Parts: sequence; structure tokens; C-alpha cells
Amino acid sequence: MAVVLDPIMNSPVPTEIKQASSTELQITWSDGQVCTYPVAHLRRNCRCAACVDEWTGAQILKPSDVNDSVKPITLNPVGNYAINIEWSDGHKSGIYTFEHLRELCPAQ
Ligand SMILES: [Zn+2]
Repeated sequence: MAVVLDPIMNSPVPTEIKQASSTELQITWSDGQVCTYPVAHLRRNCRCAACVDEWTGAQILKPSDVNDSVKPITLNPVGNYAINIEWSDGHKSGIYTFEHLRELCPAQ
């Protein structure tokens, strides 16, 4: 008998998201990992249709298009799998799945 595990249910989820400093966002995960993200890095890794070509996966947004002073204005949960971030540069279509956020977690 094999036990089939739901990969979504067994993925870590954020238990706390907070502004760590004026330029960093900190996420604490359900498995205990703590990730501190430079916010400009998150903004540059947006995967929405305006930032990444939906068909080819090629990045449209250039790192130089994002000012280092960009800030998250609001964070909105999207279902139980992602967060939407509205940015100070007016960009608000970006959705960051928890899986993507874990990939972006900088080495501590
Ligand atoms: Zn985007």
C-alpha cells in the first residue's frame, strides 16, 4: 500500500510575513525556516504576464527597470497558495506562490 501525499498540503506555508527593515521582507515558514528577502529582488522576480512572457517564459522586465528603492505597499493573500504584492512603483499584478517564494529564499 502506497500512501499518496498531496504535495501542496505538504509544502511549507508562511506563518508570518513582516517588514524586516525598510528594504527587506521577512517570511517565517511553517517548517521553521526564516527567509529575509531584499524587496527589490522580489520585485525583479515577478512572474506576472507583464514581467515574464507567458509563452516563452522569457523575462520581459529588466533588472534595471526596477529601482532599488521600490517598496511593497500592500500584501494580499491569494487563496492558500500565494500572495499578491502591490508595489510602490504602481505594479500590482504580481502573484508570488509560496513555492516561488521558497525558491527565491536567499541563502542565510
Ligand atoms: Zn509583474
